[in-house]
Formats: sequence, C-alpha cells, structure tokens
Amino acid sequence: MSEVKDKLSKVKQDLASISPTMCIAKWKQVTLHLHNGRTHSCHHPYPHGISSKEIQSNPSALHNTSEKKEARKEMLKGKRPKECQYCWNVEDLELFSKGEIFSDRITKSSEHWAHHHLDDIRKLDHKQNVNPSYVEVSFSNLCNFKCSYCSPVYSSKWQEEIETHGPYNTSNKLNNLDYFKRIGEMPLSNKLPNPYVEAFWKWWPDLINSLEVFRITGGEPLLNDNTFKVLDYLTEHPQPNLKLGVNTNGNAPQKLMDSFIEKVRHLVAEKKISAFTAFISLDGYGPYAEYGRHGLNYETWVTNVNKILSEIPGSNIVIMCTTNIFSVPEFKKFVEMTYDLKAKYSRRRINVDINILRFPHHQNLTILTESFKTSFDDTLAYMKANEAKTGAEIEAPGFSVHEINSLERLIEYVKNGPHPKEKIALTYARADFYKFVTEHDRRRGTKFLETFPQLQSFYDICKMLS
Ligand code: SF4
Repeated sequence: MSEVKDKLSKVKQDLASISPTMCIAKWKQVTLHLHNGRTHSCHHPYPHGISSKEIQSNPSALHNTSEKKEARKEMLKGKRPKECQYCWNVEDLELFSKGEIFSDRITKSSEHWAHHHLDDIRKLDHKQNVNPSYVEVSFSNLCNFKCSYCSPVYSSKWQEEIETHGPYNTSNKLNNLDYFKRIGEMPLSNKLPNPYVEAFWKWWPDLINSLEVFRITGGEPLLNDNTFKVLDYLTEHPQPNLKLGVNTNGNAPQKLMDSFIEKVRHLVAEKKISAFTAFISLDGYGPYAEYGRHGLNYETWVTNVNKILSEIPGSNIVIMCTTNIFSVPEFKKFVEMTYDLKAKYSRRRINVDINILRFPHHQNLTILTESFKTSFDDTLAYMKANEAKTGAEIEAPGFSVHEINSLERLIEYVKNGPHPKEKIALTYARADFYKFVTEHDRRRGTKFLETFPQLQSFYDICKMLS
C-alpha cells in the first residue's frame, strides 16, 4: 500500500513542477460521443459540444476543442477549471493535503498511458493540438437493450419506445426527448451520415500512432459496423502495443458475437494488439438482471462470456455491475457465478466491478426500507471467505481486495445514505418507483411482482405514496 502511496506522491510532485492543478488526462485522455457530437476529458467533466465546422478542416478538434484548450490554459496557470470539480472536491479535503488520499487528477496522471507524456506536455502551449493516448469512443446509440436506468441518448431501443409512448409519468418525466433536445444530447440519426464519425475516420490514420488504449462503447458496439471496421483495420495494420477494450451487453445477435470473437481471437493470437478486455455489463442474478436490463437473456450472457474466455486465450473480462434495486434479490448467486468463472479460467482474467447506481433516484438502493439494508451482507461474507490468496496459491480462484472493497463501499452507501449534496426526496423517489415499474410492465409486458416477490412490502409502500 505504501508503495502505491509513494508512487502517487511522486506523480503529485512531478505534476506540481508544471502547476498545482496540472492533469495529464486533459491532454491525453478523451471520451468521444460521436453519436451526438460531444466530448470530455476525462470522463468526469460534463461532455460539451464539438464544433461541426472546426472538424471539417481539423478532425483532431473532436478532442482539441476550444473549451478544452481553455481548461488546459487554466491548468498551466495553476487555476482550477470549473469542469473538474470532481477532483477539487477531493483535493479540498485535509487528507489530500496530508498525502493520505489522492484525487483522480493524480491517479489518472500516474497511468501507463499518461505519465511518460509529462515532459512533452511541458513543452506545449495550451493552443496546440495534441493526439490522445487513451480514447474511448461511442459511434452510435444503436442498441438491442433498453436497460431500466439508461436513456434514448445511449439506446436506440429506448428512443423508439419514447417516440411511441412518450416519457414515463415519473415526477421528472423520465427520458423526455424534449429535455434531451433542449440540452443538445439527442443522438444523430443512425440512418444518415454522421459528420463526427466521418471526422473520426479522417483523423484515425494519424490518431492510431499515438494510441495506447482504445475502448469502444455504445450503444451496443457489436451492432455498429464501425466496430468491425476498427478490428479489420487492426488486422491490416497491427498495433502490438495497443490495449483494446470493447463494451458489450453480451447479448448481441449470435452471428455478430461469433464474428467479433473470431476477429479478436486472430488479433490476440497474432499479437497484432497487446491485450484485449471485454467490459460486459450485468447487474445481478438471472431473472432479476433480465428485468433490470431489458433485452438480456442471462443464460446466453453466461454462454457468451465462456466463449470469449475460452476462444480468445489471454483475453480479460470486466463484469460491470451497476448495482440498483433490481440487483438486490439473490445477489450472492451472481457473485458465486463470477467465482465459478474465476475457478474455470484464471482469477486474473475476470474482474467484478461493483458500482453504485445513483440516478435515476427511483432505482437508488438507499430508498429501500430498513429491512433491506443488510441485503448484501451475506455476499460480502462470501467474498471475504474467498479472498484471493497470495504467494504459492496465487493462481487459486478468489476475490481481490479491490473487488471486496467495492462491495464494502456499496454496503456503506446503502447503510449511511447518499452524500448530503446528493440528497434524495424519498417520497418522490418511492412514488416514482411504483410509477416506473407499473408503466414498465404495461409497455413491455413484464411482471414486476411475479419477478420480485421479495420486494412486495417495499412495492406496497411505494404504491401508497404514488
Ligand atoms: S482534473 Fe480530474 S476531472 Fe479534470 S481531467 Fe483530470 S482527472 Fe478528470
């Protein structure tokens, strides 16, 4: 632990040699939402619009926007860009000044794709265009799922539903298209040429030379031809130092899934990339996960994960769990399934990333009644009893400290409630829960109470408040 602290303290000092607010991610990391022409660096600041005019002559303006250049200027002068408030909140804590904790500004800057660029950045002025080393890209919102906490911005299925039925009748009119239009987040049509995707491909032959990590997200990336275009490009133009990541819901049509696996298998086997990680979402066990992620077939998901692990030797899987009310029943079974995968393959190849869902408020775990606060305790006991061994037993299956910590953090959150700044209006949130599942069942033919008999008492309270 102190080794990690020492490393981060050293990075903090290195950054301070340029300025006390310097962050390499502002130059070298980007998320590109090409489906609605927005971008941010890193993923914490709220995405802002890309100039469709500027990218015609300079496709790197997908990343090097004037907003970002302003933020870089502020950082170089030791000022705090407002968009990075996520980090300043951490840096205002006494523990940060004492070197006990570190903000993402420091941890990101210490990453393998970031730190070695510091001296190059030192020589630049804020106006210069820079190619990033870490790119995450979404080509479109095309998706075959409509997960309960997602939106038309990221799912074409959600978009179709809202276009047909209108927004949900919750207090904030969930997924109202007028709202997304007003804030400039509506995705461009998937049937028309997209100028941001065109600019991306214009930039690509130059961009690829600087890339160290490339991750494709969506929508469901396997439904998008651009994902396969990237794989074909890498087959023709090997990048032996590139780490490739792809997000998937694990339930794309089987023909696409199989073709995807075959192409990546070739890239890995021929060492045309250095590593491959599939980031696969799943928020709980069996029928509960299927309710929360509409479109999911749990058995198919498990089959496809096994296919990736067995047919792409050396590949890794990150199971992304956005834990919410629908995750609660039999959560331990979900974690046991991940243990079985670790036992069958190698524990190093499978990571479970347990995250806390904060919005929409009606799916936030903290609105459950008192009796549910211990729902995850048996899972934590199970994970601790199966903590990964070190030393001679290093290859034995088990959960890493990081995985166990992520569940501990979740349990703390459920027991103590959200941060005061995120205060939830409980009555509204519970009433919205009832309205949401009632409308969900009506529109999608699901049956909440039949699927979740364990949540009957909570449901009754929510119904009373609606
Ligand atoms: S300062 Fe923090 S929020 Fe801003 S780019 Fe760096 S890591 Fe992201």
